[in-house]
Amino acid sequence: TPMTLHERLARCAEEFGDRPMVITDERTVTYADVAAWTERLADGLVALGVRPGDRVGLVMANYVEFVPLKFAISRAGAVAIPFNYLYRTEELRYVLEQSQANLLITMTGFAGLDHLGMLDEIAPGWDAGEQTALPELRGVVTLSTDGRSRAGVGSVEDLEQLGREHAGGSEGRGPDQAPAPDDVADILYTSGTTGSPKGVLITHDASQRTGYASALTRAFEDGRRILFSLPCYHMFGYVEGLMAAMMVGGAIVPQTAFDPGRYLEGIERHRATDILCVPTMTVAILEHPDLATRDLSSLRAILSGAAPAPVWLWEKVRDTLGVDEIVTGYGMTEQGGAMTLTLPEDPFERLSETVGRVKLAGAAGLPGSAGDRAGDLTEYRTIDVMTGEPLPPGAEGELAARGPTNMLGFWRKPEETARALDDEGWVRSGDLGYLTEDRYVVLTGRSKELYKSGGELVMPKEVEEVLSRHPGVSQAFAVGVADERWGEVGVACVVPKAGAAVTADDLIALCREQLARFKVPRRVVFLEATDLPTTPTGKVQKFRLARMVADQLE
Ligand code: ATP
Ligand code: MG
Repeated sequence: TPMTLHERLARCAEEFGDRPMVITDERTVTYADVAAWTERLADGLVALGVRPGDRVGLVMANYVEFVPLKFAISRAGAVAIPFNYLYRTEELRYVLEQSQANLLITMTGFAGLDHLGMLDEIAPGWDAGEQTALPELRGVVTLSTDGRSRAGVGSVEDLEQLGREHAGGSEGRGPDQAPAPDDVADILYTSGTTGSPKGVLITHDASQRTGYASALTRAFEDGRRILFSLPCYHMFGYVEGLMAAMMVGGAIVPQTAFDPGRYLEGIERHRATDILCVPTMTVAILEHPDLATRDLSSLRAILSGAAPAPVWLWEKVRDTLGVDEIVTGYGMTEQGGAMTLTLPEDPFERLSETVGRVKLAGAAGLPGSAGDRAGDLTEYRTIDVMTGEPLPPGAEGELAARGPTNMLGFWRKPEETARALDDEGWVRSGDLGYLTEDRYVVLTGRSKELYKSGGELVMPKEVEEVLSRHPGVSQAFAVGVADERWGEVGVACVVPKAGAAVTADDLIALCREQLARFKVPRRVVFLEATDLPTTPTGKVQKFRLARMVADQLE
C-alpha cells in the first residue's frame, strides 16, 4: 500500500540505517539520524500544540534541518507549507495570509533577510496574543535565536528539548486522526509567473511517486549522491533531489545558495554523482575557472531542467564535465514535480527540441506500494485551449495530465481550482505543446500568454523566435496589450545586446518578412534586462510586463 512521508522515512531508516542521507560541509546525517531527529521534532511540535490538519509554514534554506523538520510536520499529522525564503515583506505577507499558517518555522539573518522583522511588520503584536492580520498564527520557531530571547519565539533546539520531555507525544492519535497517503502533505506555492502564487495541495503519495518515477527513468543505481542548491521548497530540489535520492538509499548534498565554484568544490569533496541545475547555472559552472583543477571523477549525471537550452550547451557539458548521463525535463507544482524527462541515451537534439518523454511508469511498482492500484499511471493528453475538448495525439493544444501525482486543488482558490482541474480529474497545465508519437513533449508556450489580435490567436513564442534572430537582440518578449480597435495588439519588448544598433523599424520589418500580418507586433519597446519583472526565482512575468508597457504606451 502507498504510505505517508514519515512512513517512507521510517522504512528507509530500516533499510538504509547507517547510510548518509544529508551531507553538507559541516556535517553528515544518516537515515537513522534523520528518523530519530524527526521523532523528537514531531513530539516537540505536538507538545507545542500542533494538531492534525494544522498548517506549519517553513521558511528554511537548504540547511540539514529542513529535512527532519519537513518529515516531523508530516509525523505530527500537520501539513507543511515550505515558503520561498527569498520573499520580501509583501510577498511573505501574501502567502502567510493566504495560507493561514498556524505555526511558522523560520531562520534569522539568512542572506541579509530578517524574517522575524518582516513578520513584525506584517502582523504587529502577533507575539502578544493580539488580534492581528494573521489570526491563525499561534507561534514561531526559529532555527536559532542567536542568544536573543523573545516571547513567543523558540529555537529548533528548544523544540527538540520539548520533544525529549514529551517523548512519544506524536503516537497518541487515533487512527482517524493519523494522515493517510492520499491526504494533503504539502501546500506548495507556484512560482507566480502568470499571476499570484497559488498554494498547490500535494498528497503524501504524489511526491514519492514522482521521485520514484525519476529514479526509475534515470536508472539510478544504489546510493546516488545528488548535489544541488535549488531550494527544497520547490519541487525541483524536493522531488528530483530528496525524494529521488531516498528511493535508492542515496544522499542529498544541499547547498544554501548557488555558487558555481562551490558546486565544483562540493562535487570533489563529497564525491557527488549527480547535480541539479537550471540552464543558467549550467552555463556558469562550465565557465568557471576551477573546472580544470577539480576532481569531478565521481560525477555521473546532470539534470538541467525547467527551461530550454540549446544543443551546444549539452555538447559542452559532455566535453567539459565528462558526464554521459545528461537529461532535461519539464514539470510543474500542480503535478508534484517532473512530468517529463529525456532518457540518458537521447541525442542532444532531443534535449533541445523536446522537454523529454512523459514518465509512463507513473511510478507503478513504487517499493512498498502494492504496485498497480487502479489509476496508478499518470495519463497525458492535449486539449483545445478554448473548449477544453480532447485533441487527437500529435495535435497542438494545452497539455493535461490525470493520475496519482495530480494535485488535489489550490488552497482556498475554488475558482482557479475549477479552471485547472476538470470533473474527470484532468489537471490543465496552462502550457501549450504537443505529444509526439513516441510520447515526447514539445512545448510551445503558455496559454495565459496567448493574445488575440483582430480575432486571431497569436503565440508569443513564434514572434519571439523571429525577433531573437536579429543579431542585435539579446532577449525578446511578445505580449498582448488592450486596444480599442483590435481587442489586443502585440507589443515586442526587446532587450538589445550591449552596444548593438537596432531600431523598432528593423524589428518590425523582420517580423513582416517572416510572419503573417496579424502576428506582427504593432509597437516595439526597448528595455534593460534589469527592468524585466521577474519572480524571486528569475522567471519573467509577462502579465506584469504587459501592464508595464501598457502604462508606458498610454
Ligand atoms: P504560476 O503557476 O504561479 O504562474 P509557474 O507556472 O512558473 O508559476 P511552477 O509550477 O514553479 O510555477 O513552474 C512550472 C512551469 O514552468 C510549467 O508550467 C512551465 O510553464 C515551466 N517549465 C517547466 N519546465 C520547463 C522546461 N523544461 N521548459 C520550459 N518551461 C518549463
Ligand atoms: Mg503554473
